[in-house]
Amino acid sequence: MAEFNYDLFVIGAGSGGVRAARISASHGAKVAIAEEHRVGGTCVIRGCVPKKMLVYGSMFAEELGHAENYGWTLADKSFDWPTLRDFVNGDVDRLEGLYGKTLESHEVDLYAERATIAGPNSVRLASGREITAKYILIAVGSWPAMPDFPGVEHCISSNEVFHLEEQPQCLMVMGGGYIAMEFAGIFNALGSEVTVVNRSDRILRSYDEQIVERMLHIAMGRGIDFKMHSQIQSVEKTEDGCLLVDLGGANKQRVDQVLIATGRTPKTAGLGLENAGVELGEKGEIKVDEFNRTSCSSIYAVGDVTDRVQLTPVAIREGHAFADTVFGENPRTIDYDHIPSAVFSQPPLAGVGLTEKQARQQYGNVKVYSSDFRPMKNIFSPHAERGLYKMIVDEASEKVLGIHMIGPESPEILQVAAVALKAGLTKQAFDDTVALHPSMAEELVLLK
Ligand code: NDP
Repeated sequence: MAEFNYDLFVIGAGSGGVRAARISASHGAKVAIAEEHRVGGTCVIRGCVPKKMLVYGSMFAEELGHAENYGWTLADKSFDWPTLRDFVNGDVDRLEGLYGKTLESHEVDLYAERATIAGPNSVRLASGREITAKYILIAVGSWPAMPDFPGVEHCISSNEVFHLEEQPQCLMVMGGGYIAMEFAGIFNALGSEVTVVNRSDRILRSYDEQIVERMLHIAMGRGIDFKMHSQIQSVEKTEDGCLLVDLGGANKQRVDQVLIATGRTPKTAGLGLENAGVELGEKGEIKVDEFNRTSCSSIYAVGDVTDRVQLTPVAIREGHAFADTVFGENPRTIDYDHIPSAVFSQPPLAGVGLTEKQARQQYGNVKVYSSDFRPMKNIFSPHAERGLYKMIVDEASEKVLGIHMIGPESPEILQVAAVALKAGLTKQAFDDTVALHPSMAEELVLLK
């Protein structure tokens, strides 16, 4: 008789958990995974994937306008939210199925119910059954943080926004981060009236200030209303189903929906961590070492629940490194330097490495090269929106410290530029590269 039911029990079948389960199984481990919602987790079910599809869907509004300038006649253009919503959710169902199949093909047992920690080597399922495992991996992710004001129960988070019965004609978004900017862009493009309420005058704090300023300028030009230094005091539901939002001024604002996007909290509440002495940090995140091990030696954690970098590709790497370390005889840690990231606002912005401000603080003397240009794609657009690319270079070594950009397709371009930064290339390497003309990306090798 084996000492434990499984070699590994994973709690949470999101990006990090599924990768860890699959790779551990391929290393020969007997693996089980529990998921209380849907296999795929935040990214696949209610995050990156459906969000990006909504971005694509909403971009047709602008592009169909361009099409007419290119000579196309498009009679009777109209938009139907339920069609886009159902199409997106249909694809989410397909992806959920694929994730399930991956687990099945790797002979990972799936328990479609909540699991909590019962001890260092045991989990308790919602059905009451207790299962033992040599190792437990916690990959339960994070959950939208909802502020505490009267009427917050009438508001939605990014969990609900994908399932709205109707497109809000008037949408208020609280927050100035990734989710706020992406959904403000989607609904603005789809024709909703959008107001963003932000507690300071800074949005997207981790991005280069000049790039963010450009984004704000463009977003305002497209009609998004920004209320800076504002906080929602309360939300009231009227008899006709509308929401009256009190922002502390004389008049309350009437909207159809309020989307809260004020960060995400590690989902550790009620997980039974105290039963195994798993230590938490100040935000409720699970504290782990460089090998993703918690304060309990048989329990590991990866992804958003550890609140290191809340990005899917990072969770996937952590899950993979965990599996290689524990079951693959190949101890691996993650290099968190130079992680590229992007905001799929309209237009999108992207960055890797140090912002200009961070570089000046850390290196003192830096050179900043930039290109402020009108993308050819925008020539027929009614908006004279300009792209902006910036490269931050260490004056002493000429090494590129950061690349930041806003403009059409900037995440696609930035991903490749991030390789150069990771490889420690200098500005000269960019200058030595012949431009690919005509493209937007060529601006990167023509920076002055
Ligand atoms: P973010 O951390 O990006 O932004 C949170 C925003 O809410 C900030 O503007 C913050 O302001 C504000 N805020 C926080 N607390 C309060 C409060 N109590 N009252 C008013 N405003 C508040 O969080 P998101 O929810 O947008 O996204 C969560 C995470 O998900 C992101 O950090 C990111 O890691 C991930 N994500 C990544 C995406 C991508 O890669 N494209 C897309 C979507 C999400 P302040 O700056 O003043 O603190």
